[in-house]
Amino acid sequence: MLNDRHLNLRLILACVLWWTLAALSLVWNIYQENQNRQHLAFEAARSFFEQIRITRRWNARHGGVYVPVTDDTQPNPYLRVPNRDLRVSDTLTLTLINPAFMTRQLSEIAKEKDGIQFHITSLIPLRPENAPTPWEAATLQQFEQGLPEKGEFIVDNEQQSYHYMAPLFTEKYCLRCHADQGYREGDIRGGISVTLPKIPRISSFALVASHLAIALGGTLIIVVMGHMLAASYRELRHQAEIDPLTTIPNRRFFNDHLLLELRRRHSTPLSLILCDIDHFKTYNDHFGHPAGDQCLRLVAQCLRNHLQRSGDFCARYGGEEFVLVLPNTELSGAIILAEKIRHAILALRLEHPNSTVGNVSMSFGVATDECVNVNPELLIHQADQALYQAKHLGRNRVEVWHSPIQP
Ligand code: GH3
Ligand code: MG
Ligand code: MG
Repeated sequence: MLNDRHLNLRLILACVLWWTLAALSLVWNIYQENQNRQHLAFEAARSFFEQIRITRRWNARHGGVYVPVTDDTQPNPYLRVPNRDLRVSDTLTLTLINPAFMTRQLSEIAKEKDGIQFHITSLIPLRPENAPTPWEAATLQQFEQGLPEKGEFIVDNEQQSYHYMAPLFTEKYCLRCHADQGYREGDIRGGISVTLPKIPRISSFALVASHLAIALGGTLIIVVMGHMLAASYRELRHQAEIDPLTTIPNRRFFNDHLLLELRRRHSTPLSLILCDIDHFKTYNDHFGHPAGDQCLRLVAQCLRNHLQRSGDFCARYGGEEFVLVLPNTELSGAIILAEKIRHAILALRLEHPNSTVGNVSMSFGVATDECVNVNPELLIHQADQALYQAKHLGRNRVEVWHSPIQP
């Protein structure tokens, strides 16, 4: 049987489990948010890179494109090809824009618009400004070792930005300008890095707040439901342990109680009194069953009133038989109590025409375990033997169980 301490422990355990689940869910959700953010940034940067690569390929396939020379677009001094500049008229000179120059110009436009930066770079740059940053140089080295692409968040001045980089492979068209650097078709010639600046950090506040609300709400439900279940359990336990007619504990409760008392006492005697109403069958026959029930209630009430110490206990053992458990009580004390109860039952003056004394009386059997740790069955058997003796010797008396070796 569970007691209140067990019920409370289970309630606490349920709450701890619930909070653990909520915490795990929070950690999992924050992790997922980070993964999603990483994935979105990666895909965005990669699609920028792809656009640039397609545009560069278009440019390279045409062997570069000519554009008018302006203040912003000056001839590229690093482009050493014939016909780099074409003078069309006094007011119009065209200059050849190769993929690298075009990438730089696209990068400047992107940067003006929304701060996204492209950087074409190589470990052997033709143009010094295209030299790699330390991060780019390390990434280019990793490309040489087979890494296909790379993307990661980098914290700079407390701002998080996303850096992506993928390699540029030497294609047929590229060799026109880059063959003298020793590249062959398929070689990694460099890479383009894409920087998505100022990516806001994930705000965990909403997740923490929602999980806290779920955890608290769940705890409230667990506590309320737990108390309701505990109350139902107590009610059921009460029904399972209490005799409905006399409202004192039943035999089942007595069995558990006796076992508990025998276990928890420390070298102290424990007495047991079994008592039985005399000639109760004829009482029922004479007055009817309802009167018999009322008699049982009065006897139970009388027994209960004689429980003097807090550890004393009485129960309905069955039919018109009752039992008392008296912890820390020697045989002499138990006999005194049994005699008191015997007189008290007679004092109830419940008329019983078929009884030798004219009123309802009881017989008592007393057994004491003087700390020899008998088992409960044996102690009950001893008290029962004494009760049998009391019946045998004429009823309305108290008899004691004596060990057969005693005189
Ligand atoms: P003894 O003095 O030897 O104990 O005789 P007795 O008649 O008391 O014992 P017996 O065992 O012959 O009869 C017990 C009677 O108790 C029989 C039964 O009708 C009655 N009884 C048992 N339980 C109840 C109950 O719940 N209500 C009522 N009214 N009677 C009960
Ligand atoms: Mg009887
Ligand atoms: Mg009986």
